[in-house]
Amino acid sequence: MSENKKNLTELSELGEFLLINKLTAPNITRNASTLKSIGDDCAVINYASDQKTVITNDLLVEGIHFNLQYSPLKYVGYKAVVVNLSDVYAMNAKPEQILVSVAVSNRFSVEALEELYKGIYEACEEYKVDLIGGDTTSSKLGMFLSITAIGKAPIEKIVYRNTANNKDLICVTGDLGASYMGLQVLEREKKIAIETQTQPNWDEKDYLLQRQLRPEARKDIIELFAEKNIIPTSMIDISDGLSSEIMHICNLSKTGAVIYEERLPIHQQTKDAANEMNLIPTTAAMNGGEDYELLFTIPLSEHDKIKDLDQISVIGHIAQQKEGINIIAIDGTPVPITAQGWNALLNEE
Ligand code: ADP
Ligand code: MG
Repeated sequence: MSENKKNLTELSELGEFLLINKLTAPNITRNASTLKSIGDDCAVINYASDQKTVITNDLLVEGIHFNLQYSPLKYVGYKAVVVNLSDVYAMNAKPEQILVSVAVSNRFSVEALEELYKGIYEACEEYKVDLIGGDTTSSKLGMFLSITAIGKAPIEKIVYRNTANNKDLICVTGDLGASYMGLQVLEREKKIAIETQTQPNWDEKDYLLQRQLRPEARKDIIELFAEKNIIPTSMIDISDGLSSEIMHICNLSKTGAVIYEERLPIHQQTKDAANEMNLIPTTAAMNGGEDYELLFTIPLSEHDKIKDLDQISVIGHIAQQKEGINIIAIDGTPVPITAQGWNALLNEE
């Protein structure tokens, strides 16, 4: 490590302006809506007059939201962008711009920040969004990463959380719990690595690790909705776990819900890892979080449009508020769902 460090450039050697120049040198503009990108006091964007603007921000703190002991900086950059884009897709909107602000301590080298930006640029390429600005500053301890995503949608297509209706079908995309089990694998490997003084060994192709370290947002589903003429009645992305997201939709829509345990989409690797670690796969799916799948509702009359799509599972239906929010266990017992999503504030050590 100390050997390597000699070849790395200290941040103080470059200074803020040269650093920004270096980090933003590979930047390109893809969207016509980006009129002015990096390089002035503000960026300028322009959406067609029939479009509304959606905007969201996430602040990620080293040691709380990402752990550089097992996540390469390139993946941190990629994931930080993806989690923001996921919020834009959850509005049924199309993201076109991001802003990235970083604060770093002098522990980080110029090369480390370039790795972070490699991941950011990879996500921009994958999701066809433009990096249009940000800010760069120093921190006393660790890395802070704040990302803003901006997107567009016609007003009639924007989908909120508070508009689910009684009897709507509850649907999720992809599968749930894999990212949480990926985190458990990483924690276990880290412990072994510390005890045996070896580098953790994991295969980056492993599905669970990919879901945790380099997740994707469901751009494809928003495109599918457009193609099939589907406008969900409500939608949210699954960042904190299905339990807390279904509670958000129900509480805001003033409804109840029924979810069937047997219908939860859980990947075989998730089940295997959970069984190996004496965890219950359903718990990983309900409370794990960081799946970045979409949870949405559609009217019963729209069932035909989605019933043959293997990336969408119908897991239950919206009920009246007085019926509560329940999961029907495999043995038929109803169990009330309580919020056990990741609460960033409670998770602090
Ligand atoms: P200001 O003094 O107006 O804050 P800066 O010198 O911080 O300007 O930034 C110059 C340009 O570089 C601006 O367009 C800004 O948005 C962009 N920028 C600064 N830091 C970053 C960053 N970390 N990532 C992307 N763009 C950045
Ligand atoms: Mg600045």
